[in-house]
Amino acid sequence: MDADGLQVAVVGGGITGLLTARQLAAGGARVTVLEATDQVGGQLRSVQHDGRTVDLGAESLHAAAPGVLELLDDLGLGDDVVAARSGTTWIAASRGLRPLPAGMGPAGPTRLWPVATSRVLSPVGLLRAACEPAFPPTLRNGDTAVGGYLAGRFGRQVTDRLLDPLLGNLHAGDVHRLSLAAATPQLDQLARRHRSLVLARRRTGRTTAPPSFVTVRGGLARIAAALASDPRIDLRITTPVRAIEPDGDSYRVLGPGRDAWDVDAVMLAVPSAVAARLLAPLEETAADLARTRTASVATVVVGYEHDAAERLTGNGLLVPSTSPYLLKAVTFLSAKWLHLAEGPTFLVRLSAGRADDQRIDELDDTDLVERLHADLADLTGLPDGPVSALVRRWRDTMPQLEVGHADRIVQVRQRLAGTRLVLAGASYDGVGITSCLGSARRAAAQILPVAVRTEAVGP
Ligand SMILES: Cc1cc2nc3c(=O)[nH]c(=O)nc-3n(C[C@H](O)[C@H](O)[C@H](O)COP(=O)(O)OP(=O)(O)OC[C@H]3O[C@@H](n4cnc5c(N)ncnc54)[C@H](O)[C@@H]3O)c2cc1C
Repeated sequence: MDADGLQVAVVGGGITGLLTARQLAAGGARVTVLEATDQVGGQLRSVQHDGRTVDLGAESLHAAAPGVLELLDDLGLGDDVVAARSGTTWIAASRGLRPLPAGMGPAGPTRLWPVATSRVLSPVGLLRAACEPAFPPTLRNGDTAVGGYLAGRFGRQVTDRLLDPLLGNLHAGDVHRLSLAAATPQLDQLARRHRSLVLARRRTGRTTAPPSFVTVRGGLARIAAALASDPRIDLRITTPVRAIEPDGDSYRVLGPGRDAWDVDAVMLAVPSAVAARLLAPLEETAADLARTRTASVATVVVGYEHDAAERLTGNGLLVPSTSPYLLKAVTFLSAKWLHLAEGPTFLVRLSAGRADDQRIDELDDTDLVERLHADLADLTGLPDGPVSALVRRWRDTMPQLEVGHADRIVQVRQRLAGTRLVLAGASYDGVGITSCLGSARRAAAQILPVAVRTEAVGP
């Protein structure tokens, strides 16, 4: 069977929806992408600020992740890929800024010596972390929280002072609730197979390769724009889908007013809460989808006078959630990205917002900028305030992949098996563009007939 003539509605024009649409179209399906807002990209949002294009949503990609550079090349963006300059990322510790230890990733430390020399941990905390290889296997029954798991292996300080600012910030979540299986699947695999994480990583050689981050000159929204320009895709913006009705073997997708599409399959690349609403008649499924909590975050891009910014060394800093600061993460954009260095100001990106923390909602934009700048000034000694600022709020955007998430999504998918209703995206398969890439590939493979799958979406 080939896919020619198979009609698919992709609901959601974020990176996941667009990637899936492209793969479905490559497989011969006739695809309509329905996007609620007036532009594609979802959490990829690039805007002009102080004469340069900056990203207010996702700002970098893990270059080594499968398929990333190939995709950028395919989309004609290969020549505009910019690598992050090497530079220190600081961690706000109780006694000042400390360098993020080399080998420390969102899934815990891979090497102990850099942790020792960074002085983020106290001598007692360090001694406890160094005992990890000697500890017996961590017993667990099913999924568990990453924070608790790593505290059991390396001690509480590693969780509070390193994991929280890294993984907690990435997910805007609580590391004591985030799931080992869903938020850190590679760590979960390692933990299932080995007793000691340090020894396992030493053996597998995964300690050495530092993550290399890239972006696209002109902003990551160019990826969405390039995907959306595919002439095989029928794209409808300003088209919020309000219901999906089964109609025999097919579906009727209802848009605004009397707009409707009759299709063979529906790909839902929307946040969990929206999918829950659209699948409301499937009560159990909708209830499971509605259980994924979300966090609101805010991104503020500010411009400082170049002289004032001389105090900002390195690429940025991370702030643990246990600190009194509202500020959670900072990227010194003009230092990290060469193409953002030149211009009237030194650009800095400030982030705030975590699950169960409503403080950003209580501040208007002016107060938010003032507060985040005050936090940064306190941490770095920055003398003057910003000369420009831009605020973007991402309300209920960051899905919380908490303990039990992966199992719940497996169950949802089992219930949907054979219905040609498919879910994909960050809310289900993990936060970040690279997770969305894998999620989109699997979603397209589910919809396309076996005969055309391999060519369109790869093995
Ligand atoms: C501030 C911030 C910083 C981030 N930084 C990074 C980073 O540096 N690197 C990285 O890899 N990832 C980063 N991420 C995460 C990454 O951006 C997301 O995981 C990814 O973009 C999610 O894509 P998606 O397509 O699954 O969802 P979305 O981008 O949320 O797309 C969903 C789309 O569905 C649409 N929609 C909603 N309801 C309907 C409806 N009823 N009908 C039709 N359409 C609808 C929405 O308008 C939206 O366009 C960041 C996210 C944020 C918010």
